[in-house]
Amino acid sequence: MTITLSPVELTQELIRFNTINPPGNEDQICEYLQGLLESAGYECRKIEFAPRRTSLVAKIGSCSTEKPSICFTGHVDVVPLGARAWKFEPFAGVIQDGKLYGRGSSDMKSGVAAFVIAAMSMAKEAKAGPGITMIITAGEETGCEGAFHLAASKEILEFLGPAGCFVVAEPTANEPLLGHKGAYWLKASTDGITAHGSMPERGENAFYKLAKAALTLEQFSFDTPPHELMGQGTLNIGTAKAGLNINSVPDSAEMTLDIRTVAGQSHSHIYGCLCKALGPTVQLDTIIDIEGVFTPSNNPWMEKVFDHCTNINGIRPVEKTVSYFTDASALKSAIGNPPTVILGPGQPEMAHQTDEFCYVNKIEDATLLFCNLIADWQNS
Ligand SMILES: [Zn+2]
Repeated sequence: MTITLSPVELTQELIRFNTINPPGNEDQICEYLQGLLESAGYECRKIEFAPRRTSLVAKIGSCSTEKPSICFTGHVDVVPLGARAWKFEPFAGVIQDGKLYGRGSSDMKSGVAAFVIAAMSMAKEAKAGPGITMIITAGEETGCEGAFHLAASKEILEFLGPAGCFVVAEPTANEPLLGHKGAYWLKASTDGITAHGSMPERGENAFYKLAKAALTLEQFSFDTPPHELMGQGTLNIGTAKAGLNINSVPDSAEMTLDIRTVAGQSHSHIYGCLCKALGPTVQLDTIIDIEGVFTPSNNPWMEKVFDHCTNINGIRPVEKTVSYFTDASALKSAIGNPPTVILGPGQPEMAHQTDEFCYVNKIEDATLLFCNLIADWQNS
């Protein structure tokens, strides 16, 4: 079929939907993408995790266990504009000097546009082959809510079928990333007994217990060896609070822990280690539990991805991982644990910035790159 829209024009169209999260309101952009994909022969399903919080999945071709699909994912929500004024209207999709400006231009409507156009132009080949699947999510920026909800839906996973390889089109300036860290956020709380501040001996100060726990955590070290590329996991205490007023003994205290894990570290194992180190006075509750993702560079499909990137970029990419997390953590195991690359046209340093932009030529390059990956997969 002839596609009337270029990937750059589609990025502009997508930027014009205001999907700032919160509130997100991803329903209209998904409706629009569904229309486009259906016109190219794709079968689509929508799924909502809350009113107007719509994610979209699409498929074409076999998409079976014998012939698993190549799967692409991207989120369509964006972060708020921030306090600083924008020089370029954030929802207009202005192009100037080879740069396309707008909220989400890099993170990551350009990535979604590139794989949607690539998938549309390769629809015929994919229909006769293993196929293409796409997972376009809502609510990524606030903790992958859309992806987790979708990954828990048997109906959606059955519809998609297993994937044989997985492209996460987050902003990487078309450099393939082998993986990313996991995020494990916990709340640690302690209890005490309140009393008048002038008679603290009658109470039990919850804050002292919490402070001791904080100092224990400062010395905490992970018992797993560091990862070859990602290094070691980290732990930081982000917030702490206790007490209602100066003249009372606080009877409760809590702090939040931000743990970033590397591939191979099990979150449940870390939970066990923390419970042991902190003892029964400290209660731990999970806030976010997103495991890390990693595919080694000697994986045969990853080698091909590196070759294609070398062709497009003109230089061989270096082996890299990143510390931020993506929807891959929520989706990878749900679609059969395929080799996974994080690879998209956006500029990583422009994500969440004022006057966010994406280079126009990178959007075109990414579309070609994705077409090549699709062609390879259909012929393999
Ligand atoms: Zn993103």
